[in-house]
Amino acid sequence: MAKLYVVGIGPGDYDNITIRADRALRDCSVIIGYTVYVELVRSRYRDKTYLTTAMTREAERCRIALDEAKKQDTAFICSGDSGIYGMAALVYELRGEASEPEIEVIPGLTAACSGGALLGAPLTHDFAVISLSDRLTDWDIITKRLKSAASADLSIVLYNPASRGRPEHLRRACDILLDALPPERLCGVVKNIGREGQERYMLSLAQLRDYPADMFCTVFIGNSASRVVGDAFVTPRGYRDV
Ligand code: SAH
Repeated sequence: MAKLYVVGIGPGDYDNITIRADRALRDCSVIIGYTVYVELVRSRYRDKTYLTTAMTREAERCRIALDEAKKQDTAFICSGDSGIYGMAALVYELRGEASEPEIEVIPGLTAACSGGALLGAPLTHDFAVISLSDRLTDWDIITKRLKSAASADLSIVLYNPASRGRPEHLRRACDILLDALPPERLCGVVKNIGREGQERYMLSLAQLRDYPADMFCTVFIGNSASRVVGDAFVTPRGYRDV
């Protein structure tokens, strides 16, 4: 039976793809994904049939992937991890109770990990991951989650901090956080991880409010113990003998 691999390809560079994801991409006949992700892998897996769709046509892309995978092994690629704001859940939902095609989810390095490593070690203690996209989640819920994470002194990773259609979301989120957190709270931004134009910044929460984030940024907000050590963003775990 042919198979659908739902593959997390990591942030974008080949060094950060897993051996398992690489094997699935080499073994499959068809690779499907949003155009930007397809361009990241195309040069390395040349003899494949590529199918692309626009970013917001997720369900259509999943249906095409499920149909294709009934005929031949197909890799449906997502950036980072395929289950974290990725397509894995929708693929299962759309297959429903059908037994075909077989689905294998292949995890990948999510932006919280690859971006965290660029900054240093911002997530060594408990943390929350929150997407600022209100395309599928009401802003009321996003607000509630931001407030809860801040009041629990969690480090926070923000995905989808802004896009062309909603450039002000990061500012709105910072205003909510500034109700509970001090303006000098250590924050970080990583942009284009593993891709051309990779950048990292450390800044305060007050400065983050004015940062012109785009959809290729991932944002880190430290907890009350986070600090800069040398050139690294460090959230200590709390070992006593340092
Ligand atoms: N499945 C992905 C997340 C998809 S949601 C993952 O696990 O990483 C899209 C958001 O992820 C972006 O808006 C950004 O916040 C983050 N992201 C994904 N890839 C990134 C990269 N290479 N550099 C910076 N941020 C990235």
